[in-house]
Amino acid sequence: VDDSVAPVGPGVAGPAEIVADVVIVGSGCAGTAAAIEAGRAGLETVILERAGGSGGASAMSGGSLYLGGGTALQTACGVEDTPEEMFRFVMAVTSPGADEAKIDVYCRQSVEHFDWVVGCGVPFKASLYTGTFPEPLTDDGLMFTGGENAWPYAEQIRAAPRGHVPEAHDKRPLGHTSGVILMRHLIATAEGLSGRWMLDTQARRLVRESDGRVTGVVARSEGSEIHVRARRGVVLAGGGFVFNDDMLRHHAPRLLGKPKLGTDGDDGRCIRMAQAAGAGVRHMEAAEAAYGLPELYLGGILVNSVGQRFINEDTYFGRIGQAVMFSQDGRAYAIIDDAVNESLSDIGRFYPAGWVGADADELGQAMGLPDGVLRATVEYYNRHAAEGRDPLFHKGRRWLRPLEAPLGAIELADGAFMAFTLGGLHTDVHARVLDVGGEPIPGLYAAGRTTSGVPGWGYCSGMSLGDGTFFGRQAGRHLAKAGAGSSLNP
Ligand SMILES: Cc1cc2nc3c(=O)[nH]c(=O)nc-3n(C[C@H](O)[C@H](O)[C@H](O)COP(=O)(O)OP(=O)(O)OC[C@H]3O[C@@H](n4cnc5c(N)ncnc54)[C@H](O)[C@@H]3O)c2cc1C
Repeated sequence: VDDSVAPVGPGVAGPAEIVADVVIVGSGCAGTAAAIEAGRAGLETVILERAGGSGGASAMSGGSLYLGGGTALQTACGVEDTPEEMFRFVMAVTSPGADEAKIDVYCRQSVEHFDWVVGCGVPFKASLYTGTFPEPLTDDGLMFTGGENAWPYAEQIRAAPRGHVPEAHDKRPLGHTSGVILMRHLIATAEGLSGRWMLDTQARRLVRESDGRVTGVVARSEGSEIHVRARRGVVLAGGGFVFNDDMLRHHAPRLLGKPKLGTDGDDGRCIRMAQAAGAGVRHMEAAEAAYGLPELYLGGILVNSVGQRFINEDTYFGRIGQAVMFSQDGRAYAIIDDAVNESLSDIGRFYPAGWVGADADELGQAMGLPDGVLRATVEYYNRHAAEGRDPLFHKGRRWLRPLEAPLGAIELADGAFMAFTLGGLHTDVHARVLDVGGEPIPGLYAAGRTTSGVPGWGYCSGMSLGDGTFFGRQAGRHLAKAGAGSSLNP
């Protein structure tokens, strides 16, 4: 099997077996949103999906969409937010290298985007989740998902919860997660617009005219190669590349060997197909690293491989994960005492106790830490916690309490660490794919984790489904407008 991703000319692709206005690769949140907007504008769409079912990682996800600026749900929950404050926060957490133009349009149109999601039938319950689990185990609709209410951001920007979580009533394993609820409604909306869906169909190469315009894809469907022609354009929405070890080795080596969040469709093929046609990429090293159960370390402390604290334990768990992965050689330990241990839920108790010690010195020795460092760390933390202060990392007062010997340590190792890639194709605010010189490649669009989107370098839970649906829509809308008059005859 020829595994090349190089674009082919229409002559090589041969006569088109299928023709539509818009060819969409991938049926996750980004591809489905593109299909909805293109379909609502009266365009004929075809979605190619390599798996046997629709939904991609989006359907496996926690369903949270990072939206704000005063959405109807925020207002119903009594939360005040403005597009300007959301913009300041998102710029701060996604730097360095934040994509200001994308963040600006995303924040300004976030209220409208939430209404659009609701308009697709996605239900949200107007209640705020106040627990510590990364995803609500309840049916609450709104939650903090980015460390807005913790240092350093809480001091600079008014904190607002922006994780919008679709209402799901059965979150037990194998129940219907909020991601299933989200995708079920988006897919039903797209299907109602009579687009065509082709499952078990993998896009393999772009078809490109001699003038550089992308006019379709070559796909493999049920064992045969077919040419799927696009009158207006192609939208690449095939997810990220966390399941492609070769790409990880070259772009994000710290993710190699780590548990992955996604599907095997996250093989980076869409990124490579566009790169082979001259597309630029951004932030290929960036990753979301979901790190453990906050309840393990909120009441205790987190230390690195030399026994020192390195972050406020009450910040967003993805920020902790990034710090561990990129600044702390991939290792971190929760240091807890009996009180924390007893407060853990059943899930928390699954984590094997790594080491115990009658005091911090004994625990440090058992862990193989340099002599005396853990004692110094715990003494310093305890002394200030007793005064309700954390001079090093400003952990919130509600979590500050001196740890009491005996102490235990749990390594937040691989089992608690799951990652997916954030880097991808360089696109503009209309979701057009830009070449290495920054010019749009005619006929080529992309959205979701195939692109570097709102997250840039940083992340908040919900940004992937948020920017995937938002820029999927942008692609569909731009194709409806800009493509008019430039239709190609099949
Ligand atoms: C357990 C879990 C929880 C998560 N929770 C959240 C959350 O709460 N909020 C959030 O924002 N994000 C969350 N994420 C991340 C989020 O789900 C993904 O980043 C997001 O769904 C990506 O959307 P997408 O449309 O880009 O890709 P996907 O939803 O993965 O869709 C891409 C589709 O394209 C298909 N495809 C790939 N290549 C091809 C090809 N060449 N030809 C044809 N089809 C192809 C794939 O099979 C797939 O179906 C979570 C992820 C997981 C796994």
